[in-house]
Amino acid sequence: MKLENKIWDKSECLSRDEIESIQVQRLRETVKRVQNVPFYAKKFKELGIGPEDIKSVSDVKHLPFTTKTDMRENYPLGLMAVPKEKVLRFHGSSGTTGKPTFVAYTKNDLEMWSDMVARFLYSGGARPGHTAQISFGYGLFTGGFGLHYGLEKIGSSIIPAASGNTRRQFTLLQDLKPELLVCTPTYALRLIEYMEDEKIPRESLNLKVAFLGSEPWTEEMRLYIEDRLQVNTCNNYGLSEVIGPGISGECVYHTGMHIQEDYFLVECLDPKTLEPVPEGELGELVITPLNKEAMPMIRYRTRDLAYIVKDSPCPCGRTTKRMSRIKGRSDDMLIIRGVNVFPSQVEEALLQCKDVTPNFLIVLDRPGSLDRSVVQVEMSPAFFSDKMSEMQMLKTNLEETIRSYTGIHFEVDLVQPQSIERFTGKAARVIDNRPKEK
Ligand code: ADP
Ligand code: ZN
Repeated sequence: MKLENKIWDKSECLSRDEIESIQVQRLRETVKRVQNVPFYAKKFKELGIGPEDIKSVSDVKHLPFTTKTDMRENYPLGLMAVPKEKVLRFHGSSGTTGKPTFVAYTKNDLEMWSDMVARFLYSGGARPGHTAQISFGYGLFTGGFGLHYGLEKIGSSIIPAASGNTRRQFTLLQDLKPELLVCTPTYALRLIEYMEDEKIPRESLNLKVAFLGSEPWTEEMRLYIEDRLQVNTCNNYGLSEVIGPGISGECVYHTGMHIQEDYFLVECLDPKTLEPVPEGELGELVITPLNKEAMPMIRYRTRDLAYIVKDSPCPCGRTTKRMSRIKGRSDDMLIIRGVNVFPSQVEEALLQCKDVTPNFLIVLDRPGSLDRSVVQVEMSPAFFSDKMSEMQMLKTNLEETIRSYTGIHFEVDLVQPQSIERFTGKAARVIDNRPKEK
């Protein structure tokens, strides 16, 4: 099913010079704005830098970084640059990596946010007149409301289903016939599983595009979801500290996620040296939002690892730089017997084999002096009922495939269908019982 390419906003198609001149001007304004935040005022004073020193985009390299720890140390609202009366909304990070942190939005921030969400939704095929089912959690999490207001801006009608209650999700999908679905890739898997278990005919749904994001997923997972759900899928990226979803998103050509460069300056740096890595090489994304009022940020270290796509035009006509999928967070990276492994590599390996489901759980411990890595993998219902005699062969094959993807030996523990926890939001795929390093 081919989707039509259309552009929402002409600022997605500016020349490099035009983009950079917007970025420089907005960066200067941002540096001016953060002088209202004691944390930044102090840092800039120490560095002896002011707005007048920003003469080109590359001057961003002289500016200080902001980390999650800085946010925690200024908890709850120490990084706010406007009085609280100017705030129209608060959100919080979902707390994947510890205590939640709060973020705040002024009226302008909310308008800008829905604008950027509208752009990526439109670029992926959402249109006025479409109906969208939002199966993201609504609440402190930025996903639900972020997508909601972007869809509203486009003029799509919204079914605010929220996450969970899979049976009811299907009632809505079948009776209200939305063309668009918004959820995490993990929840898309759960919907597929439910549809297959309950023998719900695909023809009873009217889905055309699923906008998936908020956690890492792989190209293999895209094929799996597109094939089973018979939809186009579009990836989109964001994080609450910077604004929420909307930093970047895929157009219908799936050439990487277009970065909304008039709103964000995105650097890709070596996480150790903090020097830029060349385009095409994996690094940590460091993001400076350029227009935010309530909680401006300078060079936020996302810990997300991705690369900037090497300079090549996208057939859609947008001129913005594109970023790859997020390979993982540096916080997610496991070091097993000295080798760096991302859970997404295990996912890629498992999706090569049709006798298992993509639900898995990595369990690590260290019974003696060596790490023990086990991955629990669910057999597919068909394999479980017909081919149990081939279990040993399946286990050996999977162990080999996983080794080829990760470089290390995982012992595969084949478990019964439905025995691994299902998630309605972001999945948790690792239990690490190893003693903490001192
Ligand atoms: P938390 O940090 O508590 O999870 P958020 O809900 O703001 O808070 O999550 C943002 C994080 O989710 C990002 O930093 C990134 O790690 C992950 N993420 C968001 N979108 C994607 C995506 N499309 N692909 C991979 N990871 C994503
Ligand atoms: Zn494109």
